[in-house]
Amino acid sequence: MNILIIGAGIAGLSAAISLKLQGFNVEIVERSSSLTDIGAGIVSWPNASNILDKLGLLEEVLNVAGKVTSMKRFSSEGEALGTIDITTINEMMSYPSLSILRYDLMRILNNKINEIKIPIHFDHNLLSFVSNNNLVSAKFSNKKIIKADVIIGADGRMNSLSREYVKGDNTPKYQGFINWVGIIKSKNDIFSDLSVCDYWGIGKRFGIVPLSKNHGYWAGGITAKNIERKNPSLYKNELLHAFKDWPSNIQDIIQNTKDSIINKIYVHDHDPLSIWHKNNVILIGDCAHAALPTSGQGACQALEDAWHLANCLKENQNNLSQAFESFTKIRIKKTSNIIMGGRALAFSIFNEDKEFCLKRNIGAQNMKGHKQASAMANLWLENLA
Ligand SMILES: Cc1cc2nc3c(=O)[nH]c(=O)nc-3n(C[C@H](O)[C@H](O)[C@H](O)COP(=O)(O)OP(=O)(O)OC[C@H]3O[C@@H](n4cnc5c(N)ncnc54)[C@H](O)[C@@H]3O)c2cc1C
Repeated sequence: MNILIIGAGIAGLSAAISLKLQGFNVEIVERSSSLTDIGAGIVSWPNASNILDKLGLLEEVLNVAGKVTSMKRFSSEGEALGTIDITTINEMMSYPSLSILRYDLMRILNNKINEIKIPIHFDHNLLSFVSNNNLVSAKFSNKKIIKADVIIGADGRMNSLSREYVKGDNTPKYQGFINWVGIIKSKNDIFSDLSVCDYWGIGKRFGIVPLSKNHGYWAGGITAKNIERKNPSLYKNELLHAFKDWPSNIQDIIQNTKDSIINKIYVHDHDPLSIWHKNNVILIGDCAHAALPTSGQGACQALEDAWHLANCLKENQNNLSQAFESFTKIRIKKTSNIIMGGRALAFSIFNEDKEFCLKRNIGAQNMKGHKQASAMANLWLENLA
């Protein structure tokens, strides 16, 4: 079985590794001329660490990742709003939660791709799918047409031609907020421990994720009704202005982040889909189930897709539609819940109603941290061997 993967993001690269380890012939096409690592970092929650272990990558990840221990919540005035004990999640799920730069994760995935000799064809911009009965081929802007027994769409959330082919529409939903993201590295320690810190204001949020005591990444978010033209030279000032009355460590982090590292993203997601495949094309990663960053699970779910799809194809080698059915049966409910959970949290965090935010903060203070940790672990444990 020849398999073609469209897109060399976390979903495409990890699926390629998983498939190759199961013995499939697989190649990747990517529209850019090299790998991209837009965004700052991610937390590999234990479900993702589990898959990284299955793909033989966990040791390398552990060498560069931070072992985050808790998630502390604060109001925009710095008042404590409760703590979620991440070690409880790790114990329930038997794997660590690891903060890692996107650049490092992409590098580790790419090293494995090279080691097990999976071809990546850069500068291959998918233009359309060409049907020949039920077997679809991929046509690129460089005029090439590639045929394959299976085409895996892993072309992301913003303009996925694979999603358009399967669903007939690929328009992502703007969810009304901006995220600026950045990476901070300092000569001196800036964190006392490896706790994720999450500050909640009215229509605003600032999250900080340490990788070590002097290195971490962060995301500052505010509501924004309209999508406007971006000007990178203004990002730092926009942030300093948006978070000007917030605790001083936030101002310090923004001030000490190199301007060139700050990125600004108008955040979109997708409604859950009920079907992820058509003919020999199957969707994975963000083009199948883009969730908001408030879910914390986008990349983690892409890794889960990689593992399950390879298994389903292996178990149903002579029956492609059965393989696709089994895969989507395992994946759709979990990823749909994660999309809706991300939206619910975004609704609460980016709420602009003062009264609502006051009640939300009191609710967070009264919430039992270990109960939240168990709920997160139970959701993320679903269908994980
Ligand atoms: C601000 C922000 C913060 C986030 N934080 C987290 C986090 O903390 N934890 C977490 O788990 N997730 C997080 N996510 C989500 C996570 O980044 C994504 O879910 C994950 O990267 C999805 O990977 P992907 O491979 O599906 O898509 P992508 O990374 O978008 O990769 C798609 C690839 O397809 C290529 N491509 C697109 N179109 C074509 C074409 N026509 N032809 C050829 N190639 C094409 C692209 O160039 C790209 O390389 C965050 C997302 C955002 C927006």
